[in-house]
Parts: sequence; C-alpha cells; structure tokens
Amino acid sequence: MSYQRPKGTADILPGQSELWQRVETIAKTVMENYRYREIRTPLFESYDVFARSSGETSDVVSKEMYTFEDKGGRQMALRPEGTAGVVRAYVENKLYGPDHQKPYKVYYMGPMYRYERPQSGRQREFHQIGVEAFGVDSPALDAEVIALAKDLLEALGAKQLKFAINTLGDPESRAAYHQALVAFLTPFKDQLSEDSKIRLEKNPLRILDSKDKGDQAIVADAPKILDYLTPAATAHFEAVQGFLKDLGIDFEIDADMVRGLDYYNHTIFEVMSNDAVFGGGYTTVLAGGRYNGLVEELGGPETPGVGFAMGVERAMLLLSGQKVQESLPVYIVAIDSAAQGPALRLAHALRLQGVEVDMDFQGRKPKAQFKSANKDNAQLVMTLGESELQAGTIQVKNMQSGVQKEFKQAEVEADLSKLAAQLEADHE
Ligand code: ATP
Ligand code: MG
Repeated sequence: MSYQRPKGTADILPGQSELWQRVETIAKTVMENYRYREIRTPLFESYDVFARSSGETSDVVSKEMYTFEDKGGRQMALRPEGTAGVVRAYVENKLYGPDHQKPYKVYYMGPMYRYERPQSGRQREFHQIGVEAFGVDSPALDAEVIALAKDLLEALGAKQLKFAINTLGDPESRAAYHQALVAFLTPFKDQLSEDSKIRLEKNPLRILDSKDKGDQAIVADAPKILDYLTPAATAHFEAVQGFLKDLGIDFEIDADMVRGLDYYNHTIFEVMSNDAVFGGGYTTVLAGGRYNGLVEELGGPETPGVGFAMGVERAMLLLSGQKVQESLPVYIVAIDSAAQGPALRLAHALRLQGVEVDMDFQGRKPKAQFKSANKDNAQLVMTLGESELQAGTIQVKNMQSGVQKEFKQAEVEADLSKLAAQLEADHE
C-alpha cells in the first residue's frame, strides 16, 4: 500500500523551502516597514464566520469550502481566505478599543483551503500573505495599501505588473446600481447560465464576475457602477486615484471588476501579471479592497477596513527563475573512528557559537567525507586525525582560497570567527 498526497496539495521539500523562507522574510520586512504586525488565527472557524463575511452565494462559500461537522455537532470550515478569521479575532479581542492605535494594522501568512479544480497556480491547499488595516476610512489608506502591494511584489522580484482598480461605492451607490443591473438583466434571464439565474435573484453583482462566456457577452453592455456612485463615493474614488498619482503608481480603471467575495465596497483592486509562466493572458497575483461594514457584520462596532491577499504560489511562479545558492559554513572530517567523539564535541561547540556545521555519521572513508563537503559547498573543512588528536589541534582549510592552517582545538571551540579571519588574512 502506498499513499499519495491529496489532490491539489503540494509537498514543499528542502531545496524549495529555502525559496519559501526567502519570500516570507522579504514579505515580513516590507510589511513591517509599513507598520503591520503579525496575527495568527485558526486554520478552521465556525462555518458561519465565512458564510456571513464572504456571502452565502459567493463561489467560495457555496462551492469551494471544505466544511465538516466536528464531533460536538458544530458546523466548521477550513479557512478559504484570511480576512474573515482576522475580523472575527478583531471583534472577539476588542481590538477596536481605545487602547489601540488606528489604523490597527495586521498581516498574516499561511495556508488556505478551497475545493477547486487544480491547475498551474490553482491548488486546494494554497498560501496567502495578506494585510488588513482597521478603523480608518481615509482614501489615503487605500492608496497606502496599494503601494504596499506594489512594494511587496517588486521586492520579491516581480516585474511588469498591471494595477487595476475599481470602486463598488457605498451602500447607497450599490443599491441604486443593484436596481439598474436587475432591470437590465431581467429581459435576458432565460439566456443566463444556471448559476447566474440564481445570482439574479440573490446577488446580481456576482453575474459581472461570471466565468460563463454567454453571461460575459450579455454583461458587456450592462450599466456601469461608476454611473451610479453617490457624490461621497465618487469623491473617495477620486481621492484614491489622486494619491496613487502622488505615489507614482500607474493604474487602470476596470469598471467591470467585482471581487469574488461579497464583503467589499468602495475601492477594490487587483495586481496582474502576463508573465509567460502563466501561459498567456493576465493572471491575478494579488487582490484586495475596502470592506467597511464587515466588522459590523461579524458583531463588532461600525469599523472601516481595507486589505489585500497575495497568492504565494502565484508569486513564486514569478520567481521560479531564482534559485537560492546554498553553502555550508563548516564540514568536519573525522579521519578514523577515534576522531568521532572529538568531532561531535567540536560540532557541538561550533553550533553553540551559531555556526552551521555538518559531519559524517556513517563511518565513511575520509575521501567520501571530503566529497560530501564539496557537494554541500562547504566553506571551511576541519580535519581531525590521529596526530591532531595527540597535539590537541585541528586542520582548517578554506575551500575557496585553498589555504590550510593548523589551529588549537580549544581556540576553535572558543571562537571560530577570529580564526576564520586569520585564514583570510594569510591568503592576502
Ligand atoms: P481567482 O479568480 O483566480 O479564482 P479569487 O478571486 O478567487 O481568484 P482571491 O479570493 O481574491 O482570489 O484570493 C487572492 C489571491 O489568492 C488570488 O489573486 C490568487 O493569487 C490566490 N488564490 C486564490 N485561490 C487560489 C488557489 N485555489 N490556488 C492558488 N492561489 C489562489
Ligand atoms: Mg477563485
């Protein structure tokens, strides 16, 4: 009997995990420069947390969620996205309280789960890095979040990104648009896809996001949200555009853009790439927007919010040309079995100094050990044989310069950094 990983999941093995760690390290640095701090929430929540926030009729909730009943009979779900859990935590921990600065800024990174048809850049377990900023309604914050998205992707090495923005307006704008859209679409009801017939009743805005070609043709002539904005919603959107110009960020307005989750209003945005790795056309790597009202929806006080999520697998596809060059600072060669104990002790002493060390554990011949050292791209090789043991010394060879020198064991065990510098100096 042999087992396979679940469809749509991946094993991230040594050799790849280094790149993941690098992405995470770079992302942390950029997000922390913008004063976001990490939040970690559960991988599963009550089903209702997602149903209430993303909307029952969203594809994510109605088709893609991993749901289960726990042994206590509670309806639960694996998180399909990060925002709902963060908002739930924000409310539950009263992070809106007077002790906290506004905006309250957090970031998260971790796995998300959606039951989708796996393909390149689309998995059932995938990862997102995202940010959320609560408590401030200013369009300057929308622009700052978009600037952060740009800095993040560029710090990771992405090039030629396309920034698309739109607005979904405030509730008043949306209600007016809702009415206009239903009036426009109702005569086409029989021609709409089965999914969209239901959407027309429950959530007509969703139809704009339909992947069905027939729906898309009908929707092409539909009224645009931009024509139904209240003066306040227009002012917000124009201010965001002004700030983006101040920041030197090029963007396009995509009046047909709606997002897959129901909680958005005002500014929404997507960052896309047409890199060849995506096999033609534009693919969305990062998406987000404003979600005033979501905190209230999950039981908190009226609180504005804005954020984004980046798909890590898709961002990594953009970086797939990059490889992390690995090297090993120290490899210890024990010439015979008598040297094994002293080699172990030396390795331990070096690790306590914070030095990465490896050695042989299979009792192999010195030649095989040197081969391992080369394969791991060792910078220093330390050799312990009979004469070294008697003299209390070690041979230390700098593999790049070829310079070899004998040192006292006690000195190496006390402080390697001094001796390594000495080896360098000898070479010059
Ligand atoms: P799509 O239209 O591609 O399904 P979405 O609108 O469902 O995307 P969001 O919920 O906005 O995606 O998630 C933000 C980002 O997370 C996406 O832009 C993408 O990079 C990534 N993402 C979403 N679903 C998946 C998935 N199944 N596998 C890998 N990455 C994903
Ligand atoms: Mg999707």
